[in-house]
Amino acid sequence: MSQSATMPQDTTQPDSNGHFGPYGGRYVPETLMHPLKELEEEYFRSQSDPDFQTELDYYLREFCGRPTPLYHAERLSKELGGAKIYLKREDLLHTGAHKINNSMGQILLAKRMGKKRIIAETGAGQHGVATATVAAMFGMECVIYMGAHDCERQALNVYRMKMLGAKVHPVTAGQQTLKEAVNEAMRDWVTNVRDTHYILGTAYGAHPYPLMVRNFQRVIGDEARRQILEKEDRLPTLLIACVGGGSNAIGLFFPFLEDNDVQMLGVEAGGEGIKPERHAARFQGGSLGVLQGTRSYILQDDNGQIQLTHSVSAGLDYAAVGPEHAWLKDNNRAEYSYAKDDQALDACLKLSRLEGIIPALESSHAIAAVIERAPKMSCDEIIIANLSGRGDKDVQQIADKVHL
Ligand SMILES: *Cc1c(COP(=O)(O)O)cnc(C)c1O
Repeated sequence: MSQSATMPQDTTQPDSNGHFGPYGGRYVPETLMHPLKELEEEYFRSQSDPDFQTELDYYLREFCGRPTPLYHAERLSKELGGAKIYLKREDLLHTGAHKINNSMGQILLAKRMGKKRIIAETGAGQHGVATATVAAMFGMECVIYMGAHDCERQALNVYRMKMLGAKVHPVTAGQQTLKEAVNEAMRDWVTNVRDTHYILGTAYGAHPYPLMVRNFQRVIGDEARRQILEKEDRLPTLLIACVGGGSNAIGLFFPFLEDNDVQMLGVEAGGEGIKPERHAARFQGGSLGVLQGTRSYILQDDNGQIQLTHSVSAGLDYAAVGPEHAWLKDNNRAEYSYAKDDQALDACLKLSRLEGIIPALESSHAIAAVIERAPKMSCDEIIIANLSGRGDKDVQQIADKVHL
């Protein structure tokens, strides 16, 4: 891994059309080109406006609870008997996961653009809850598109969004899950773009979303870098994060990309193993294709039909991966592995019992990789694992699977 950590500096930014090498871009119908360009322009203007950053910093600190601790997991490190393990505690944020970093950034952008209405897609409901939260806070109308099947599986999050004043729109097309919810959100956006902003929830989709979401999430890595230098006076050996669309992982990785000695490991959902339709590990069974606005590794059959996916964690259960990760993989700058459902469940219980922290099932995939890697490393090496969210939302599902 370390031998390949030489990436030319200019590849850490996409080109002007949002391409990370052969990945990314903007594959959308003509009607979406204008809104995307308008969004891109306003986003770049906000980036060079210090007042915007000041306002974002204020709400991230006072409302969301940043900075999050970089916590030395002493008992886990001792138990595994190798590397010293630190956890970046995104689980301690308001609404329980890193998603609010992005929702907060985008709603401030929407406000700046004079939009009055917010729409978003959600799978498990975490991004829907984060978005409904910031919409409530700024008094904006909010509509969340969610597959009808997901609405059933995640009834508690549906109710949460409604408590926050959002309208939840169940989508009954196709498999009635995240992919269909994204399609509906895009359809709404085209129709209502004049007063509506679409808060996309991960580092995916048409340019500028992958770039913009990464930049709103890089606060994770910026803080972690500063914190580890304060605590250890050196950079970590290895970063580990789970990869759904890829926003928490790229948020952690990005500020370290030019530190060539820092290794990076993204962990995908291995589900029940790498068999068609039983996992969501795009770098294992995926191939190059275009889905929902961007070009990346996609789980598809020989005819280009999108395959079914499976994971115990809804947040990792998507057929495509963010384009920047595809680029980092091709450049060997980051490595990608997977954890299976049962490994994630074991990791979840292990962290709960050793550290008193119940992680989200998504984050448990990163912990599973920590459990595998740490013992093979020496005690003077450091791992930073991103604890992207807390596990409260998953307790019922875990209870159905694991008898205690
Ligand atoms: C949504 C979610 C993820 C996956 O999304 P990314 O964009 O890949 O980060 C991971 N962890 C938690 C807790 C989530 O809610």
